[in-house]
Parts: sequence; structure tokens; C-alpha cells
Amino acid sequence: MSRGRGGVRGLVNRLRGRDIELKTPGELEAMRAAGALVARTLVAVVELAKPGVTTAELDALAEQTIRDGGAVPSFLGYHGFPGSICASVNEQIVHGIPSASAVLADGDLISVDCGAVLEGWHGDAAVTIPIGAVSEADLKLSAACEAALHAGIAAVRPGGRLTDISHAVQEACEEAGRRDGVPYGIVAEYGGHGIGTSMHMDPFLPNHGEPGQGPRLRAGMALAVEPMLTGGDPETLELADGWTVVTADGSRAVHWEHSVAITEDGPRILTLPVS
Ligand code: MG
Ligand code: MG
Repeated sequence: MSRGRGGVRGLVNRLRGRDIELKTPGELEAMRAAGALVARTLVAVVELAKPGVTTAELDALAEQTIRDGGAVPSFLGYHGFPGSICASVNEQIVHGIPSASAVLADGDLISVDCGAVLEGWHGDAAVTIPIGAVSEADLKLSAACEAALHAGIAAVRPGGRLTDISHAVQEACEEAGRRDGVPYGIVAEYGGHGIGTSMHMDPFLPNHGEPGQGPRLRAGMALAVEPMLTGGDPETLELADGWTVVTADGSRAVHWEHSVAITEDGPRILTLPVS
């Protein structure tokens, strides 16, 4: 799940580098276990997602996989959210509500965001899945977002600054846009976040901006890095359901996310599948 921009108090705390939870190596191992379960859940969802399947079926599989792993879906009931995953199809960017009436069709592009809490520690990750034969443009859009995610992760280093990540994400998106001949839209209203004993913690992590700003990154912090890209304008609208965020211009959107620990050796992705 992505975090919306906070208020003034959150901004002050972010600028001061306060309120960022530091984990011990043992606690990061516990977060890795939660992240591995999220990854396993997303793999199961990817394998089920095909034309004719509903997003409610994906949600049921995700909930079962999370509970079988001894964890609890962290999205379910979060501010009243009714699903264990966010299932955002086509022009939906994030926070789509799983539904028995949302039947996946050939050519759809679905972003699935998943979170689990295992023994008190959270994992949060998202993938975008092509359904059947998807257009070349949509595949490039998704690839651009995934590459931006990994560019952001590569910018994570102890002693660096938070917006080094933001800047790397932005540069990767712009570079992909130039290469693909499409000025991809970087969604600004939502972004990444600290993660640990709660799903959404300080700091808010924008997906664009100048480097060298914000809190200094320290070993023991954990962040969810999650770019959201559109094939058109980056402006968003929230649907009347109070959750689903869509592109204002109806263009397609994609979302990729990993939870990442900052270690003395650099970034460690917590939400990769265990091989
Ligand atoms: Mg998420
Ligand atoms: Mg998130």
C-alpha cells in the first residue's frame, strides 16, 4: 500500500530525521521473514492471474497464503480497507478494492499490492502483472516502473539522504520515457514510507525531487520504495468508494514496490522470494 503525503508535523519530523524506527539485525531478520511471505503470496497471485479470474479470487488466495504462513494480512481492515490485497486494474493506480465483479480480461494490466504482518513485523510489496496479450506500450510502461524501483533501491546507502532515492527514481523514469518516446507521468500524491512495527511509518518517500535532502539514512532503517507511473498525465482522482485512485486522464498506470532494509553493506531487499 502507498502512503499519502502527511501534514506539517510529519514534515517537521521528516526534516529533523526524527521518528524513524531503527531495527537491530535480528529484527531485520524478522522483517525478512515477513517480506518473504509477502513475496511468496505475490508469486501465487501472479500464477493465478489470467483472463476470467476475478480480483476477489486473487484476494482470497492472497489471504489464505498469508494466513497459512502464520501471518495476518496487514491491509485487511486498515482504515477499513476490505481486502488483503490492493488490486488496481488498468487506469487504476493504487488502492483498488478486490471485487467479484472485476473479471480480468485479455490485455489488462493489474497492479497487486500486498502486505503481511508476521510476529509484529510488516512486509509490503507490489507487482504489475500483464494479463494475456498486453500491448507493447503497457509492457514498456511496467518495465520502466520496475527499473525505477531498482534504481531507487540502488541509491539506498547508509550516510546518504532520503531524497537520493527519490531522485534516482525520477531520473530512471525520465530516462525510460526518453528511450520509449513517452513522457511517463510520475504520481506525486502517493509514495513510499518507513516500515517496521507498522506498515506506514515516517519518513514519507517521494518518487521525485532533488537529491541530498531529508533525513540521513542509517543502517537499521527500513523503507518501502514504490514508484507509480502512468502512460499519460500524472494527475490522480479518488473514486467514490473512498479508496481507488485512478489516473485523471484515463491512461494506464503501474506500480512496483519492495520493502528494503538499510544495512552497513547497503540495501537489502526484504520482499524477494526465497529461492
Ligand atoms: Mg504496498
Ligand atoms: Mg507501501
